[in-house]
Amino acid sequence: MTAPPGTRLLGTDAAAIEAAAQCLAAGGLVAFPTETVYGLGADAADSRAVARLYEAKGRPAFNPLIAHVTDVGAARKLARFDADAGRLAEEFWPGPLTLVLPKAEGCPIAELATAGLDTVAVRVPRHAVAQNILAAFGKPIVAPSANRSGHVSPTQTAHVLADLRGRVDLIVDGGATPVGIESSIVACIGEPALLRPGGVPREAIERALGRPLAQPPRPVDATAGSAAPAAPGMLAAHYAPRTPLRLDAGGVAPGEALLAFGPRLAAGADRAARVLNLSPGGDLIEAAANLFSHLRSLDAAAAPCIAVMPVPHSGLGEAINDRLQRARRGATP
Ligand code: AMP
Ligand code: MG
Repeated sequence: MTAPPGTRLLGTDAAAIEAAAQCLAAGGLVAFPTETVYGLGADAADSRAVARLYEAKGRPAFNPLIAHVTDVGAARKLARFDADAGRLAEEFWPGPLTLVLPKAEGCPIAELATAGLDTVAVRVPRHAVAQNILAAFGKPIVAPSANRSGHVSPTQTAHVLADLRGRVDLIVDGGATPVGIESSIVACIGEPALLRPGGVPREAIERALGRPLAQPPRPVDATAGSAAPAAPGMLAAHYAPRTPLRLDAGGVAPGEALLAFGPRLAAGADRAARVLNLSPGGDLIEAAANLFSHLRSLDAAAAPCIAVMPVPHSGLGEAINDRLQRARRGATP
């Protein structure tokens, strides 16, 4: 799908909510208010829609996104809750608290949206408009803040328009957002840890847990913008295959796996153990949508190495190359 020709601005009546749900179902991008800031929403299970979302934001890296759902029951289909997570959900949902949890079996969220991690960030927003859109759509919605990467988060429609006019299909205008800062993010994978301070104060979270939050496993990662997903054995900083990667490969050695890009395969592709193409047509949106799932599949081939053909650095190519480089460093310490 190409860039949307225009941006529709609607109110919050039933027809607008229905239009938003239909737009999401068609793979479109919808900006809508939550109690924290305006979110840029996409169908969390649709990897192409998620790739378009990263492109619209102009993110230089694929930060994992928060999946928004209507209630705890829907969240339990995505993630495994331990006792602490259950207590926090009961106390603060709906509300400005995000939980990072192990993915549930059969979690439908696109690999790209979780950046290939085995964990998923989930939140139940309180804002009535967000709730209505989630209910009408009936499935999880990923929704990072509706601004261009590096700009401040939008708390009014005017901010969204200033950043994303022509890049988002639909904006549901629900006025100014009440909280105005992002959600607090708590990882419940082992000892609960605060990954990002936000709309729910630390003290309130600690009171609900009955003990102090653990230190986040790592200091804030400047490239991640906010919370650093973190630490060996707890949260992987980024997806890393076990198989070493060889980037910008012009050819393939016998037995290597090949992660291809574009219509012309690298020399020796016929001798590869397995070949997967990020986008035979050379489309960077399609390539982003396939990136993590293809890496996982090639990793499972247990070849000595995954040769990766060059991917252009324009548009989403910058984020794709960023993730490939991180995946390579992770695999070859
Ligand atoms: P935003 O959607 O812009 O409010 O930010 C989402 C934040 O959630 C990012 O800073 C991510 O680093 C963090 N996040 C999302 N998923 C995960 C995860 N699986 N593990 C750790 N942090 C996560
Ligand atoms: Mg943001």
